[in-house]
Amino acid sequence: MFDPDRLLSIYNPDTGELAATKPVERHLADLRGCFADPAAYASALAVGNPLLYRVASVEPAAGEGDLHYGVGCLMPGKIGDEYFMTRGHLHAQRPAAEFYFGLNGEGVMLLEDETTSESLMVPLRPRHAVYVPGHTAHRTMNTGTVPLIYLGVYPARAGHDYGALAQRNFRYVVVERAGRPIMLERHPS
Ligand code: ZN
Repeated sequence: MFDPDRLLSIYNPDTGELAATKPVERHLADLRGCFADPAAYASALAVGNPLLYRVASVEPAAGEGDLHYGVGCLMPGKIGDEYFMTRGHLHAQRPAAEFYFGLNGEGVMLLEDETTSESLMVPLRPRHAVYVPGHTAHRTMNTGTVPLIYLGVYPARAGHDYGALAQRNFRYVVVERAGRPIMLERHPS
């Protein structure tokens, strides 16, 4: 039997939230070790612990073939010259892909192949659909001045793995140079 409460969610374009879902919030203190400039991170944290992002997830079912989705809202700002970003993750089930669609604001996604660490920065903004293949670490950065809001859709069984990246972080850092985002190698050889 169809249950409309389970099958319909209403997106609020003003807040970036989905009705009847409780978003998960991540603040600056939750992203210890993610930003490249530890001094800039410490001095930002000394002033306050701002909200970096919120994700409202909808999990209607959890079986084989089911989908989960979420709306992320990532605040504008920088730590040093590195943009506010999400922690980033791999899927616990590595072959699971994900689809992102920009709803508001301006940002980029950093994709990194888990095996080769080949990396790509792709724009995430309204009218842009991004396909994240399986076995790919992904992280989102807000490069604009208003909240970046986006939809993500993924297999219900994908799961999230933050551990692998907490150890080594992404190979590239996305920073602002002359008003634009560029990728820099974290540990140039
Ligand atoms: Zn994902």
